[in-house]
Amino acid sequence: MNEKSLITKSAEETKQLAMELAQQIPLSSIITLTGDLGAGKTTFVQGLAAGFGIEKPVNSPTFLIIHRYELKTKNETRKDEHISARFLYHIDLYRIDKQDDIVGLGLLDILKEKESIVVIEWAEKMGKFLPEERIDVQFGYRDENKRKITINFQNPSFKFQ
Ligand code: ADP
Ligand code: MG
Repeated sequence: MNEKSLITKSAEETKQLAMELAQQIPLSSIITLTGDLGAGKTTFVQGLAAGFGIEKPVNSPTFLIIHRYELKTKNETRKDEHISARFLYHIDLYRIDKQDDIVGLGLLDILKEKESIVVIEWAEKMGKFLPEERIDVQFGYRDENKRKITINFQNPSFKFQ
């Protein structure tokens, strides 16, 4: 298992970490975010989106559950200039209470898209629908501005620097 754990001391540091991840992860990655309300999941997605050059504001998908952002074909923040991924999907399952509701969301089809990044808050609610190859990010509240963030790569071929 390939794991990285650290403490961020501000929302900005959490965004910075996510930006670094965005610059390195394989395109078509699935990223799960788990942790209590206010732990920093959405903040992390804002950093990821910034890392992919998304300029639209990113906030919690309160009503829609799924937000989709188009990715530019050229992205200055990544070394491989020509991004082939098409979308970043931001999904928040907070309001889902039955695993089977996942099916109705069309999420399973989104997970099959080979050219998109999918990031899921409250991903533990997916249960059996969670794909095996993924990046798990756990958030733990330490104090007002400190969060412990543990990133687990369930993908042996990738190493985060
Ligand atoms: P979640 O999506 O997990 O419910 P949010 O990202 O919406 O959490 O909220 C996290 C809140 O905590 C934000 O108001 C953010 O500014 C604040 N915060 C303070 N310190 C940190 C930190 N180190 N990392 C992330 N967020 C932090
Ligand atoms: Mg959130």
